[in-house]
Amino acid sequence: MKYAAPSSVEEATSLLSSSPSAQVFAGATDVVPQIRAGRPVPDVLVDLKKIDELVSLTNDAEKWTVGAAIPTVRLTEDAAFSGEFPGLSEAAGLIGSDQIQSRSSLGGNLCNGSPAADSVPALVVNGARALIAGPKGTRLIDVSDVVTGPGETCLASDEFVVEFELDRMPSRSADAYLRMIPRTEMDIAVVGAGARIVLSEDGTITDAAVALGAVAPTVVRVPAAEEALVGTLADDDTLVAVAAAASDACNPIDDKRGTIDYRKQVAGVLAKRAVLIAIERAGQRNGDV
Ligand SMILES: Cc1cc2nc3c(=O)[nH]c(=O)nc-3n(C[C@H](O)[C@H](O)[C@H](O)COP(=O)(O)OP(=O)(O)OC[C@H]3O[C@@H](n4cnc5c(N)ncnc54)[C@H](O)[C@@H]3O)c2cc1C
Repeated sequence: MKYAAPSSVEEATSLLSSSPSAQVFAGATDVVPQIRAGRPVPDVLVDLKKIDELVSLTNDAEKWTVGAAIPTVRLTEDAAFSGEFPGLSEAAGLIGSDQIQSRSSLGGNLCNGSPAADSVPALVVNGARALIAGPKGTRLIDVSDVVTGPGETCLASDEFVVEFELDRMPSRSADAYLRMIPRTEMDIAVVGAGARIVLSEDGTITDAAVALGAVAPTVVRVPAAEEALVGTLADDDTLVAVAAAASDACNPIDDKRGTIDYRKQVAGVLAKRAVLIAIERAGQRNGDV
């Protein structure tokens, strides 16, 4: 197995095109355990961390641009980013341990294709887009369209994610992410729930996004919960409807971490709690970013 460390997107795509089993990596916190567990060894491992765009974090008036290979600790430790996207930052801060977070990336978390990947529901509720590079140039797609099944993405073998785009969070809007694990840390989500809420001046919800992880082959949006929330002050009946919609949206597996019924119930509880946290945060965010 060869190791390559290209310094440009073009060099990386040409390396991927020249070898059918070449594979990109960022932190390798999934790649190395997978190879050790017997997955086919690639001809060339292409390290993305020497490419400037892949490891930069910037913003302008419209959006944040997050390099796909940035170690997630750089997001959780960035006060401006975490202040604007506390839910996404919380999700990134749940990935493994401090050691793992000094290497793990959002690009790796997404493209590994785990249904339980913590950052993906938080990216999805924030409407994140992924800039994909390949030999024919770049294309921008919704993060929600990248993963097509467990361990599967829509990327060709010579494509990779360069960066993520996130619209700036308007005032009176906020996100939240919660997960349930059987242990206190270092475990895989039984359920993950992300929410993003936009409030009017009087506290009425004007927009809502709810997404669940670990309850289906890919992250699940919950439109029925979103519709139940919009136009309300999130009273008790609305929250009961949110929980019921989240439970109904699940199509989980039965495994040692939880039964189907348990996952469905937890999904309802976590979706409701994530919505409540997002509402509280949104109410505290006044003024322009
Ligand atoms: C001890 C331990 C605990 C963990 N705990 C958690 C947890 O709590 N929650 C969680 O969600 N995950 C967890 N993980 C899994 C892993 O750390 C995360 O999925 C992490 O975000 C992967 O990022 P990475 O940069 O290390 O990915 P890599 O291992 O570098 O890559 C993962 C996959 O994505 C592909 N890839 C990487 N970057 C790109 C890119 N830019 N474009 C296209 N494809 C790409 C690689 O080819 C590979 O298939 C844990 C792992 C370990 C070892």
